[in-house]
Amino acid sequence: MTENQVIVGLEVHCQLDTKSKLFCGCSTDYRSDGPNTHVCPVCLGLPGSMPVLNKKAIEYAMRVAKAFNCTVIRESEFSRKNYFYPDLDKAYQITQYDKPLAEGGYLEIEADEAREKRVQLTRIHVEEDPGRLVHMGNAERGKYSLVDYNRAGIPLIEIVSEPDMRSPKEARKFLNKLRATLEYLGVFDSEKEGSLRVDANISLSGSERVEIKNITSYKGVEKALTFEVTRQKNLLRRGLKVDRETRHYLEAQGITQSSRSKEQEHDYRYFPEPDLRPIHVQSWVKDIILPELPDARRERFIAQYGCSLNHARTLTGGLRLANFFEKTVTSDPKGLSTLAATWIADTLIGELNYRSMSIDALDPDSITVLVLLLKRDAITDKSGIEVLRVMLDQHLNKQPCEAPQAIVTRLNLAKTAGDTGALEVVIQEVISENPKAVDDYNAGRNGALNFLVGQAMKKTRGRSDPGELNRKIVEKLGNTEV
Ligand SMILES: [Zn+2]
Repeated sequence: MTENQVIVGLEVHCQLDTKSKLFCGCSTDYRSDGPNTHVCPVCLGLPGSMPVLNKKAIEYAMRVAKAFNCTVIRESEFSRKNYFYPDLDKAYQITQYDKPLAEGGYLEIEADEAREKRVQLTRIHVEEDPGRLVHMGNAERGKYSLVDYNRAGIPLIEIVSEPDMRSPKEARKFLNKLRATLEYLGVFDSEKEGSLRVDANISLSGSERVEIKNITSYKGVEKALTFEVTRQKNLLRRGLKVDRETRHYLEAQGITQSSRSKEQEHDYRYFPEPDLRPIHVQSWVKDIILPELPDARRERFIAQYGCSLNHARTLTGGLRLANFFEKTVTSDPKGLSTLAATWIADTLIGELNYRSMSIDALDPDSITVLVLLLKRDAITDKSGIEVLRVMLDQHLNKQPCEAPQAIVTRLNLAKTAGDTGALEVVIQEVISENPKAVDDYNAGRNGALNFLVGQAMKKTRGRSDPGELNRKIVEKLGNTEV
């Protein structure tokens, strides 16, 4: 291992997208409802209430375990993790300790061009989410805090990786792959606020390990780790040492900060949860049928649609995106796929991200029509982007949405290339208006040709094909030269 090699391991908490909570019948669909409206004696931990395990949650966790090649343990069990915090009114969390549901396994992340890298997993266990504290005013010096138990008892899985990642970028790729796989499995909704939380362990080889707690966004993980790498390297460069500690990531500032209260090793007094029986589900694994997962879909996109590896990776990187792509090409899978893949992967995603829009907002048919217009050479790539932007802005601003063809007509974007007569007029105008450039061209200065093509592009407002203009101008000047 080289000096200052970055070593990263992740603990990822994901909410399982079940209809009811882990140990009671309360609905998990709480986000748009008022605080403490999805609660009952069980998830409030009132004395005498008894938890009943949600079979669906275990099935979901088993799907994840199987997809990541983990070994489901013959007998796993729930334990009580005892601590007091206001978001945990019963003063213990039901989680899994020394007998987790599954151990081992791995997931593959894209390394460089064609290779995939394997990241080993330590374990996957199931636990309940605590409630949520809402700090009024500043979290550090707030007036008071409110507590909402709607989230208490939502099923979580914690996926713990081995310290196999070697850069913040690899950590991001790990999370992307994890998220995509959980979505494909139908057990997780990444668009639900707070559905994912990450603790990241990071060290430089030979130095102490730092844990960054509770990062709540995908981008945040890469940013927090990048900050830590720089901070730790700077300490070592100055001859100082890295303290073993817990830090928090401050999303707004993009920095990590030492946790004020020196987090000591808690004595959680784990003991087996007396109100729940051990779990024997090993024989169930073989009955779980997995859907097509991201790797398989990526290979299928390459084989079936002729996508490049990079496009296939991008398009299968999220379930919604992959479904969207397939819908846009259903009418003509062979004819449209390459162009559609290029437009969706290289242009549409960037335009959506720029507007913080989800792909759900768009109708795949409208992209099919846009791609058809491009394929038929009815508009230039530049006009295609213009049409796309108008479409997205109309969605974003909740305006009536025009069809791509209507936008082309309204903005007069139809390509003039086919209209040879009109192009001839434009070229003639450009030649007569720029005698000096024509002379330069005739004198062998090639830059002059680019200038003339540029002038002609301007006159056709970018609606003609530069290659064709180039050819026609050369033709024309060749004639006048005689
Ligand atoms: Zn409940």
